[in-house]
Amino acid sequence: MIQKSLLLAILLAFVTTMTVGPDSLAQKATSAVVSSAPSSIGPTEEKLAPVLPPEQFFGAAAMGYAACKAIPHVCSKLFCYCGCDITDSHWNLLDCFTSMHGVDCHICQEEALLALRMTKEDQPFATIQRIIDEMYAFKYPFKEESPALKRYKASRKYIAAPLSPGQSNKPAQGSQAQSTSSEPCCSNNAKNKGL
Ligand SMILES: [Zn+2]
Repeated sequence: MIQKSLLLAILLAFVTTMTVGPDSLAQKATSAVVSSAPSSIGPTEEKLAPVLPPEQFFGAAAMGYAACKAIPHVCSKLFCYCGCDITDSHWNLLDCFTSMHGVDCHICQEEALLALRMTKEDQPFATIQRIIDEMYAFKYPFKEESPALKRYKASRKYIAAPLSPGQSNKPAQGSQAQSTSSEPCCSNNAKNKGL
């Protein structure tokens, strides 16, 4: 009797490893395919590059990578306003975390954490895009919009209020009407000259 049940247990263990084995092999194969795919083709719907393992980082960096890993499909449709679209040829927030870029960048980390929080709160995706844009767009360091930013703006899911020309990097409403001190110095010079 004891021998029989022992045999059964061994058999069961064997069957379990047999069923797990090929699966994990297949997973390894697909992740190898995804990571070896060329990154220059830009964002695609189905094939997302893998987020680097959060365990290899500490503190805020680990939290950022973990957040992005939890919602890669959301992050792939958000824009990172740290300027990495120009400096690192990134197309979206996901790109910050499939590379080492997200280790040092607080903007990337905060955007990913905020996106995860709102996703967990069941916020509509358009709202997540809008809130992240409202909170971080003014941090974008460049005057010209990159092709990545133009593409993002054309594809986002909410209708943005029209901005006055030359003010696209500033928060939409607020104190601008009361004071001109927040305007770039060159426009003040233009006003002083009576232009
Ligand atoms: Zn970034």
